[in-house]
Amino acid sequence: MPELPEVETVKNELLPHVIGRCITGVTLVWEGIVKEPSVDEFQARITGQVITGISRRGKYLMISLSGGDYLVVHLKMSGSLIVSPDSPELLKFVRAIIHLDGDSSIFFRDPRKFGMMRLVSDVDFVERKLGPEPLEDSFTAGVLARRLGKRTAPIKALLLDQKLVAGIGNMYADEALYAARINPWRRGGSLSRREVKCLHGEIQRILWAAISNKGASVDTYFRPDGSEGTAHYEFKVAHGLGGKTCSVCGGPITREVVRGRGTYYCPHCQRLK
Ligand SMILES: [Zn+2]
Repeated sequence: MPELPEVETVKNELLPHVIGRCITGVTLVWEGIVKEPSVDEFQARITGQVITGISRRGKYLMISLSGGDYLVVHLKMSGSLIVSPDSPELLKFVRAIIHLDGDSSIFFRDPRKFGMMRLVSDVDFVERKLGPEPLEDSFTAGVLARRLGKRTAPIKALLLDQKLVAGIGNMYADEALYAARINPWRRGGSLSRREVKCLHGEIQRILWAAISNKGASVDTYFRPDGSEGTAHYEFKVAHGLGGKTCSVCGGPITREVVRGRGTYYCPHCQRLK
């Protein structure tokens, strides 16, 4: 599932291909991908608008348009935005094609069909859904500590809560908790100041590393040029990609379900205190 580093990569790599380009039309292979407004209005309103910028907030992409609208895209479980895919495999699950002047297009590929597009005149609804950006300077260890407060939910579940902190999903939550040696079942409010500081540092380190590796292609994520990211090569536990044993203690890596999400960790290094 695309998380902050994957969506950030899509933004960075899509930008040079689409900035200043006019949308000449949209082909909706699967109309359900448009959540707002109606399909007819979506197509009529977006056509003729020029792409003036792309920003990211959490796992949302916001493509700003010359008419004052935003095309808000969420890739959800399996989405990718690919510029001119050149293989049958990449074309296989294309749900929408945004045609640009100059004969190129953005292909919205989404095998599992959870992805969505909204054409809106303001993006306040995105802001209301999200907590702070974990890579901004204003997101300090103190901010994380305050947001954890006395919360009693498992820290793993809290890291996935987009209102607590935006952009972290299952993969990077497991990696950050492993690196910080914190058991995923620990109650959020029970973490010591030292533990919160360590977790905060590991969240930032892991997200930056994943961005520099252009995201993790563990499942169906592709970069805009159709290639794969390599962030998962560095996974220690997430998705079981770190192997069956812990690289620190040699003990077995365990998979348990925490609040509905498969969670990998080392029960020895991440002891429940
Ligand atoms: Zn271990």
